[in-house]
Amino acid sequence: MVKPFVPQLVYIEPRALEYSLGKKLKEKFEKDGIEIRETTSHNQVRNLPGENDFQKYRIAKSTLVVGVRKTLKFDTSKPSAEYAIPLATGCMGHCHYCYLQTTMGSKPYIRTYVNVEEIFDAADQYMEERAPEETRFEASCTSDIVGVDHLTHSLKQAIEHFGKSTYGKLRFVTKFSHVDHLLDADHKGKTRFRFSVNADYVIKYFEPGTSRLKDRIEAAAKVAEADYPLGFIVAPIYLYDDTWKEGYKELFEQLDAYLPHHARKNLTFELIQHRFTKPAKNTILKNYPMTKLEMEENKRQYRWGKYGIGKYVYPKEDQQDMKETLSDYVHSHFPEAEIAYFT
Ligand code: SF4
Repeated sequence: MVKPFVPQLVYIEPRALEYSLGKKLKEKFEKDGIEIRETTSHNQVRNLPGENDFQKYRIAKSTLVVGVRKTLKFDTSKPSAEYAIPLATGCMGHCHYCYLQTTMGSKPYIRTYVNVEEIFDAADQYMEERAPEETRFEASCTSDIVGVDHLTHSLKQAIEHFGKSTYGKLRFVTKFSHVDHLLDADHKGKTRFRFSVNADYVIKYFEPGTSRLKDRIEAAAKVAEADYPLGFIVAPIYLYDDTWKEGYKELFEQLDAYLPHHARKNLTFELIQHRFTKPAKNTILKNYPMTKLEMEENKRQYRWGKYGIGKYVYPKEDQQDMKETLSDYVHSHFPEAEIAYFT
């Protein structure tokens, strides 16, 4: 079982100590004997220890920066939500295909923001602007927020904040099973708790440093028992060899075996095929040179993208096969669930 994340090195921005969460985290890490360095700027953090990029990358992923979120303008987060709520950035996991490798390039360390009340105030303004329409906030656009929340509890606060709101909804996705502290949060049914799941083979070879499938499913069952609306993102759907259908079949059988009955009514599935861009491929090969991840352009179909950076997705027939196979598994095991999309 993957243990809850403990940073090897902590940086604290001086302004973070003006907030109660900043002070609490400093005391906690001091008590735990973790090395703490004060920093005045991001650039200092960029000069992380390590003799080469490979080492620096690994050290960064076990480094936590405790900081203050300056910009309170939220990014949009289509199609699953209106806005991304920024509680943290970066992740301790080592998924070979992680989108953060390209989006967070020069700063792969984990950064948590302690000015949570200010972030919630900004969220309230976004909700007011759209009222009486509902506003959905996604908390995992720039990190796997659950993976760090046992230290900060800022996600837990967000769950309770949106629980109290009239028009707000929260959602996030995780590959970690450390959910116990979130089970008693007063969510009032306004948070959709999603788990990213995959065939065992894919998790084993491409998602080091994250919770194993069995642990994620057990955590999902606990979350369902705590009456959260539940969802699964099957991503990336990856055609690893001739046995991929069998692997995904087993995934659905395991979900079916563990999930409590009442969780099945309000259950969503999001299905996302594996894709890569040329810049992502280069970054993946630099950070994980031994990866078995297949990224051959000539075996894929090119999909034009924004800013001229297209994606390599599976050819049409494979996409169709994947979509039909996984939709069948969803419908046969969870007839009441909704498939939000396949992309
Ligand atoms: Fe990236 Fe998610 Fe894996 Fe973390 S758990 S490395 S955010 S894909």
